[in-house]
Amino acid sequence: MAQSVEIVTIGDELLLGTTVDTNAVFLARALGEIGVPIARRATVADDEHEIADAVQQALERTGGVITTGGLGPTADDLTRPVLARLFGRELREDPAIVAALHALWASRGRGGALPPSNLQQALVPEGAEVLANGQGTAPGLRLTDDQGRWVIMLPGVPRELRHMTATHIVPWLTERGSGTVLRSRNVRTTSIAESALAEKLGPLKREVEGLPLAYLPGHDGVDLRVTARGYPAAEAARRLDAAVAQIRDAVGTYAYATDGVSMPAVVLDMCLVHGDTIAVAESCTGGLLGARLTEVPGSSRVVLGGVIAYANIVKEQELGVAADDIEMHGAVSEPVAVQMARGVRGMTGATIGVGITGVAGPDGGTPDKPVGTVWIAIDVRGEVTTNRAIYIGDRAEIRHRATQVAMDLIRRALLGMAT
Ligand code: ATP
Ligand code: MG
Repeated sequence: MAQSVEIVTIGDELLLGTTVDTNAVFLARALGEIGVPIARRATVADDEHEIADAVQQALERTGGVITTGGLGPTADDLTRPVLARLFGRELREDPAIVAALHALWASRGRGGALPPSNLQQALVPEGAEVLANGQGTAPGLRLTDDQGRWVIMLPGVPRELRHMTATHIVPWLTERGSGTVLRSRNVRTTSIAESALAEKLGPLKREVEGLPLAYLPGHDGVDLRVTARGYPAAEAARRLDAAVAQIRDAVGTYAYATDGVSMPAVVLDMCLVHGDTIAVAESCTGGLLGARLTEVPGSSRVVLGGVIAYANIVKEQELGVAADDIEMHGAVSEPVAVQMARGVRGMTGATIGVGITGVAGPDGGTPDKPVGTVWIAIDVRGEVTTNRAIYIGDRAEIRHRATQVAMDLIRRALLGMAT
């Protein structure tokens, strides 16, 4: 097993929540790819004691620490002096960095002389290795003590961090590594609960091909993730592929995709194969289905358009929904959803029409139509399928889930048809 590493991300903004800590996530994924386990992650303020404490403890535990942030030229950028002190090293100005800073300043056409505060970035702890930035001014630094414990300091700017991870961190750790990888694959399911999935998986529900299985519920459904840890790359790939095939087999049509592929992408692909086009009539989702479908590049070959039929008058006048039906059954009802789907199909000439009408909340619920009640109808070349569900969650979740189910209905309808 490779040596594990701890990550310390530095910055008040991370603790305040004004900046999302994408650096830690990015590093975790990049290190995972090369089989280097992250033992722990910490986030600390721009504060000498907090930084020193976090790094010292991490060094004692794992002996390998990557920090991000606090390498810049401003007074709140403390990483360099704090870690120099922790390792008992003096800071010295590095002439090569000074020259590079002057050159970079001039090349960016900013005019005038380099502000003196920028020269802080040329201070290097004795014995540290300088890691070229490639994207910005602050170089990274690597300090190693006499027991071989090390800290790598990287800048906080995510673009610079990503670049330096690729140019310095991954090659260096790979060279020291054990030749094994840490990789995951996902089978994406929708419209089925975790417990029901576990039942379908039966003996596979905890482990597939010797790989642990995790259940990750989200707005789109439950992702089933298998992780290979500590295998050589080829063996990991073989086990992951076999595990994905077995999981797909066990859960059947509830699985709509693997890895990062989205439901809209799946549905659009199927429509292309079948020669279908889609039009949407949306009430409670207010265009969200259209937005999700058209997020996918190339969607213009399938999506014709639609109507945001929020008010009853629009349902009636644009889509031809019968006022009597709205009166008798209410706007959130099966006949209205069906007429919306048919109406928008007729209006656009699409082969598939979708109608969605529901109560997204937080107000507007009644005892027989509580918040979360949504009727969906799809009309695939005249064949109509309807679905009613009561979604749990806030307004955003209810709307998102309804669009997911609408797309899943299309997917299921097309699955049953010959191409
Ligand atoms: P600079 O040379 O720009 O001063 P730096 O190493 O000092 O770089 P910071 O000042 O800490 O980095 O952060 C620079 C920018 O990067 C800020 O906009 C900050 O919000 C963002 N940033 C810092 N840390 C993270 C992080 N962990 N995840 C995402 N963004 C971050
Ligand atoms: Mg900062």
